[in-house]
This record gives sequence, structure tokens and C-alpha cells, in this order.
Amino acid sequence: MDQHVLPLEFEVREWRAAHLWQDHPKVEELKQAAQSQNLWNLFLPKGYGTLSPGLTNLEYAPLAEIMGRVLWSSEVFNCSAPDTGNMEVLAKYGSDRQKERWLRPLMAGKIRSAFLMTEPEVASSDATNIRTSIQRDGNHYIINGRKWWSSGAMNPRCDFFIVMGKTDPDAERHVQQSMIIIPKDTPGVDIIRPLRVFGSLDSPEGHAEISLQDVRVPADNMILGESRGFEIAQGRLGPGRIHHCMRLIGAAQRALELMCQRVSTRETFGKSLADYSSIRQDIAKSQCQIHQARLLTLEAADTIDRLGVKAARELIAMIKIVCPQMCCDVVDRAIQAHGGLGVCQDTPLAEFWSYARIIRLADGPDEVHMYQLGRQLIKKHRF
Ligand SMILES: Cc1cc2nc3c(=O)[nH]c(=O)nc-3n(C[C@H](O)[C@H](O)[C@H](O)COP(=O)(O)OP(=O)(O)OC[C@H]3O[C@@H](n4cnc5c(N)ncnc54)[C@H](O)[C@@H]3O)c2cc1C
Repeated sequence: MDQHVLPLEFEVREWRAAHLWQDHPKVEELKQAAQSQNLWNLFLPKGYGTLSPGLTNLEYAPLAEIMGRVLWSSEVFNCSAPDTGNMEVLAKYGSDRQKERWLRPLMAGKIRSAFLMTEPEVASSDATNIRTSIQRDGNHYIINGRKWWSSGAMNPRCDFFIVMGKTDPDAERHVQQSMIIIPKDTPGVDIIRPLRVFGSLDSPEGHAEISLQDVRVPADNMILGESRGFEIAQGRLGPGRIHHCMRLIGAAQRALELMCQRVSTRETFGKSLADYSSIRQDIAKSQCQIHQARLLTLEAADTIDRLGVKAARELIAMIKIVCPQMCCDVVDRAIQAHGGLGVCQDTPLAEFWSYARIIRLADGPDEVHMYQLGRQLIKKHRF
């Protein structure tokens, strides 16, 4: 096996592909070790009081960068999406019963979760298009719709979904939506199929297409109240973007280091690859891009800590525009310098590229963030 991939990193990746939807025993052991050393739920900022291990977003950001160097490692510390976002939602907006029933076991790492917003029938980058209906029926709600790209839903330990849908289709656009908790084993929930990402099933979490047909849940599964879906979505996404962006920075930094190592060991046309000007330019450009992205993301984290998510809105949009594209660019150069090795399983580069590429879509495509940031800036600076 190539020196560029760590033995355990390689073993877990290969094992997961061969044992669909199963957790690797070594990862479970590492989780217990992390929990016993209080390296657990590090992402939950200290504003959450006793629920939080006590770090700020700014303090957590470099840890997320380290986790990004081995993509599955964030799970070891109970810091992986979509559980992190769902924990923040329940910690911030959940009722006491919801916290007891779902937040507590999620924070203990006993269960996993999924977030169901995107739908195959509508352009979901505009969340006002979401069609799933959530209708009140006495002490219950009845949910009907179809979702896809529900990350984490294939994992057998996934216990519940947070689902976005419409409670009032006739209301003003931003108050039509609500979020409700659906236990995965509720009658009417049908996991239709797992979706592949560039050919990979991303086991053991997976990304599911799910049908919800006359799914009935108690009325007190509603989070925060009817019509509050957008409000919750805004609160959910800010810190989550810091996590993704810092992981992307860690992945890009490792790709760059691998590139430097690789070009130092290969020669073409009588010269080391490290001595070609084009290679050195690629390396220099990559380090500049990585560090620019890192500083921008740290500023966004610091602004969230000091002034709140709303005040950090422009910075959060900027990092979401900058970091996935930066990581795609850096990893692409590293792949090129590795030759055929760069696209196979013997380095982490292929999965880094795939991760960066999907983050250009997930949590809102690049263009949507540019569209919204551009609008805010025009509003701010026009006469
Ligand atoms: C691997 C993966 C995991 C995901 N996990 C989840 C999850 O856990 N839960 C969940 O709910 N969703 C998840 N998603 C879905 C993701 O958030 C959506 O794919 C994304 O929001 C885009 O929605 P859409 O696919 O419907 O694309 P559409 O809304 O149809 O958009 C298609 C394209 O139109 C363009 N576009 C849109 N708006 C504009 C604009 N204003 N200006 C210019 N161009 C524009 C963009 O290029 C965009 O990519 C995941 C997606 C992937 C790939």
C-alpha cells in the first residue's frame, strides 16, 4: 500500500465499502476512547451551557481542520454532519420532551439522525419550493411527500429525521414551512433506495431517497411551532458551514503536503518533478488559497462567537463560496501531480475531491450564496 494513506484510514474506508451500512468496530472503539477523554461533541459552542464541552466556534475551527485530514474522523468525536446540525437544532429550539427523547441519545452517540429537506420534484436550492405537506389532525400531524439526498438515513442506527415541509401553503412564502421530527420506524416511512455519489454509496451513512406516505406523528413532535421552519434553518446553517469549511481546509492542506512529498520522489526527463516551475507554481498558489480560506473562515467563526449568526451572514456566505471551490482546485492539482495514483484508492485525494465537489451543491449551491451575497452587498453600498 502507498505511504500516502494511513493504514487505519485505508482499512476503514475499504471495509466500509465492502460491508454496506455497518459501522467499523475500530471506529466504535475510538469513539469510546474519545468520549472517555472528553473529546466529544466538541462542535457544540459554549453558549449552550452545560450541554457544551466549552469551546467557542473559533476554538473548535482548528480541530475541525485536523478532522478534515481524515474524512471519517469527525464521527469519532461525535462531530459529523448531519447529526451536528440536528443536535444544534434540538439544543436551541427543542422542547424538554424532544431533548430527552432525541437530543440526549444523539449527544451520547447512541443513535444517528438525518435532515430531510431536498425533494426530487422541485428545485430545492430555493427552499420555498419544498412541497412536502404537514397537516394537523387532532393531536397529530400527517406528513406526505418525497425526499432525497437524506444523508445518514441508510445507517441502521439512524433513529429519526428532522423533516421540513409546508404547514400553511397559503401563507407568506417564508412562513409556510415547519420542521417536525419523524422517528424512522414510523409506518408510512419508506426508504426507496440509496443514492450513489460519483459511484460511491458513502456507507455506512448513505444518502437515501425516502417516501413519506400518510406518516402520522404526535403534534408535540413539531419543533418550535408551525411556520418557524425558515427561522430554524437559518440558526442551523451558520456554524455547520464553519465545520464543513474547516474540514475542507484540512483536506486541502493534507492534499498539498502529499503533493510536495510525491513530487520530491519522482523524476521525468532527467529532472525531479519538484524542480519544474509549473509544479512549484501549483504548490505556491495552493498554499496561498488555503491560507486565505483559513483566515476567512476563522474570521467568520470569531464573528459568530462575538456578534451572532446574523451579523456573520456575509462572512458565512463568503466561506461557503470560497472553501469548496478552493479545495476542489487544490486537490485537483495534487491529483494531477500524482498521476494515476491520484485517482485510485491508495491516497485520500479522490475522496477529498468528491467531498469538496458535493459541498459545492449541498447546503445550497455556490450560485445561490453568490446571488444572496451579491444582493446584500448591492443593498448595502447603493446610493
Ligand atoms: C452528497 C449530497 C448530500 C446531501 N445531503 C443532504 C441532506 O442531508 N439533506 C437535504 O435535505 N439535502 C441534502 N442534499 C441536497 C442538496 O442540499 C441539494 O442538492 C441542493 O440544495 C440543490 O438542490 P437541487 O439538487 O434540487 O438543485 P436545484 O435547486 O435544481 O438547482 C440546480 C442548479 O441550479 C443552479 N441555480 C440554482 N439557483 C441559482 C441561482 N440563484 N443563480 C444561478 N444558478 C442557480 C445551481 O447551479 C444549482 O446547482 C445533499 C446533496 C448531495 C449531493
